[in-house]
Amino acid sequence: MAASRAGPDVVKKMADLLRAGATMLPERCPLCGLPLFRLRSGEVVCPVHGRVYIVRDESEVSKITVQGVLEELEKLVASRISENIEAARRGEPRARELAEWLDVLERTERILSMVRSELAAAKEAGAAGKAAGGGGKKPGPRRREG
Ligand SMILES: [Zn+2]
Repeated sequence: MAASRAGPDVVKKMADLLRAGATMLPERCPLCGLPLFRLRSGEVVCPVHGRVYIVRDESEVSKITVQGVLEELEKLVASRISENIEAARRGEPRARELAEWLDVLERTERILSMVRSELAAAKEAGAAGKAAGGGGKKPGPRRREG
């Protein structure tokens, strides 16, 4: 049997993705080199690693890292808040701790929404650029005014 980098599970996963209406992209997963797929939801996934991000520059990388950390924090805060609610139900009010966690949550959400909107704007700018260049393809230097 020929050794293949993509195991049968991966091939099956790719087939499943295509069957679900995903599109194979020219970009490859930075981790394993497999082609990436765009789901109908717009999410980009690797058949092995799941959700991945196509990054364009360093600043985007750092925003994505920030986003990941904040999303983790968001989960943690949510679980702490629910713990405090449970405690309150058991007759152990922890209003102060709850307020502190809510404060953290508020800040997390604020920063997250900033990071997300910046990332979305960067993504849109990239998509618009592609769409604009999609018509008559003319390779060569492009003059920029301004
Ligand atoms: Zn991968």
